[in-house]
Amino acid sequence: MSSYITYSPAYTLVPTYECFNRCSYCNFRVDIGHDSWLNLSEAQEKLIKLKDKGIWEILILSGEVHPDSSQRNNWFKRIYEICELALSMGFLPHTNVGPLTFSEMEQLKQVNVSMGLMLEQLTPKLLQTVHRYAPSKNPQLRLQQLEWAGKLGIPFTTGILLGIGETLQDSWESLEAIATISEKWGHIQECILQPYSLGTQQNFSYPGFNLEKLPLVIAKAREILPKTITIQIPPNLISNPNFLLDCLKAGARDLGGISPKDEVNPDYPHPTTKSLMEIFQSTPWQLISRLPVYPQYYEWLPIHLQKAIQNYCKIKSIHK
Ligand code: SF4
Repeated sequence: MSSYITYSPAYTLVPTYECFNRCSYCNFRVDIGHDSWLNLSEAQEKLIKLKDKGIWEILILSGEVHPDSSQRNNWFKRIYEICELALSMGFLPHTNVGPLTFSEMEQLKQVNVSMGLMLEQLTPKLLQTVHRYAPSKNPQLRLQQLEWAGKLGIPFTTGILLGIGETLQDSWESLEAIATISEKWGHIQECILQPYSLGTQQNFSYPGFNLEKLPLVIAKAREILPKTITIQIPPNLISNPNFLLDCLKAGARDLGGISPKDEVNPDYPHPTTKSLMEIFQSTPWQLISRLPVYPQYYEWLPIHLQKAIQNYCKIKSIHK
């Protein structure tokens, strides 16, 4: 009997790489003033090229503009309009652009089928090390985001980053915090366990997460998290097929968005679905695509987004 491993056929749009935070391990950001923002006609051009390419999810991933910056409103407006555009062209947006105000989150709910923000790690000690110059990585601020997403009824993806100076105990505590908020609101659809992997743009010399420990972390996460939360792992950061299979055995069931480029880890291209299917040949695992919102949340969405989902279910014969 086969078990399903899911992934989301995705493409990432980046409104800007500029970010006012400076996380030591970042391979994404550029300094303010060093990037021109993606405008709507450029976004449209990229989306037109995706038509009939089997892409369902548009992940909107952005560097952050400081909440007090005079550019914040323009930045937010651009993100909102990119989501609207993607929807109007038949794609399903999922936005992950850092901490938002309650009102910003409430507005984005109207144009996103799900949203996301990594908790990363709950321990405040990282604010003295890798997050020393990253005020957005304050764990209490991020917990509040998870809380607000629950209050607003937004299907949500979160997760933890592994190998940035935390202990295993820190990870268990981070997962327990996710479990507690999820039990309160029921809105966390998936939890990413993301091993930090060395990139060529960062200024951080840690060797990366020891992947041999990943199955253990997955198994423990499976114990801590409610059964309704799917555990997601990024297959491009787990290049050894045997490790990948060990991770599935330990309880991971989703491979996230598979897109042409992993913007967060540009040194690690995603495997093709064909190569993944080859790995799963002669195993009990079967790779299937999914939407960026899980079926149990379809009814949480505003009516116009439910209609967009219904169209997808009809066109793509997706099982409800
Ligand atoms: S990891 Fe995210 S928040 Fe941190 S510097 Fe990079 S883009 Fe900014």
